[in-house]
Amino acid sequence: MFCTGFLLSPSATRKPNTLFLPENKNQLAAISPTIPQCWAILENPLTNSIYCKEDCIFQSKSVAIPARIIIFASAPMTREETLRFRDQLVAWFRIHQRRLPWRQTKDPYAIWVSEVMLQQTQVKTVLPFYQRFMQKFPDIQHLARADLQEVLKVWERMGYYGRARNLHKAARIVVEEMDGKIPEDYLQFRLLPGVGDYIGAAVFSLAFDKPHPVLDGNVKRVISRLFLIESPMTTSSSTRYLKERASQLLDRSRPGVFNQAMMELGATTCQPRKPICSECPVSLFCQSCQTGRQHEIPVTMSAKAVPTYHLATGVVYRDNHLLITRRNTRGLLGGLWEFPGGKVKKGETAEQACLRELREEVNLSVEILGRITQVKHAYTHFRIVMDVFRCRYGSGEVVLRGPVDYRWITTEEIDQFPFPGANHKFIPLLLNQGTNE
Ligand code: SF4
Repeated sequence: MFCTGFLLSPSATRKPNTLFLPENKNQLAAISPTIPQCWAILENPLTNSIYCKEDCIFQSKSVAIPARIIIFASAPMTREETLRFRDQLVAWFRIHQRRLPWRQTKDPYAIWVSEVMLQQTQVKTVLPFYQRFMQKFPDIQHLARADLQEVLKVWERMGYYGRARNLHKAARIVVEEMDGKIPEDYLQFRLLPGVGDYIGAAVFSLAFDKPHPVLDGNVKRVISRLFLIESPMTTSSSTRYLKERASQLLDRSRPGVFNQAMMELGATTCQPRKPICSECPVSLFCQSCQTGRQHEIPVTMSAKAVPTYHLATGVVYRDNHLLITRRNTRGLLGGLWEFPGGKVKKGETAEQACLRELREEVNLSVEILGRITQVKHAYTHFRIVMDVFRCRYGSGEVVLRGPVDYRWITTEEIDQFPFPGANHKFIPLLLNQGTNE
């Protein structure tokens, strides 16, 4: 038994059939400022529909009445419109697409690698990484044979290292358990580490021409604008709805090229802040553009405040060598190497935190010689401010608590290890200094 609902704006300036699907009070609060008067409608199939003001939707949620979601969105395209939409989009793509290396092949491995890299990263950033990666690991056997550290080294500075670890793990499974052949069975492929809906649909449509609609951020934005969807793209109900629309639009006779065309349109023309509707091949089908509202869609949630953490890190010198430690392969920056350190606790100075962290994490007593620099770095969900100290080894032998490995290295050897981006911000200072304290 559940009860849920949708919101519909009665404002005369809005189409009455636009979609709102808030899933909780915060989402509603994020949307509400854009909607002068919201009304919630709960439909109970056993009784009559209930109409109430926006607050009621949440009170009613606690009432155990059966209900179903009715989506009020702009009208879907007719069959004829859909056919014309597909033709115009694909014709545009054939002429205007960017010539990218992974578009010149049907090799599922090459396409898989590119799609993993393209998750959360833009094409222009991915290009040099992709080329280096394919040179070093030209096929799945090379990747499976490689040590994780080699893979992370090639991936270094692209971020989201979990993608690299999963791809490496999946390559080993394919080689060891599937005779080195990427499965052509969709469900089997989806079971591999790191293969979600997006990667599965992209690889299967692009490499094998199987009819799976892709739904990356670009495609979600295009569909939201095409159908004037006034609900944040990130909610699960919106995702379900977007999937449905993506599936209806998909050209099943040429899913690979159609999916690429949708992604390309979002990446190059239907851009987040400045959609170039005057150059869009499907503007006549786009309800946001036709009503002049393309800049309002997609609706965004108010951004959460991003916390900032203060860290202290020690570069420990001992006999012309520096200490580095390796992070556990699970979790953030897993498998990368770094200089030891950690969070500054409340009431501590950064120097005190550095001495404590070195004692706790690697069992060393050191003398702080001075601060090398302060580094600021942003991750997806938080930021760090890191004080980096030059330290002289005092006493103790390394015993690891947290890290899984360590090395005493010279500055010439730094380049052999993959480090997080924040460490790269001060490594050049160490290289200038050499291994002298
Ligand atoms: S017309 Fe404009 S808003 Fe609509 S899909 Fe094209 S670029 Fe995007």
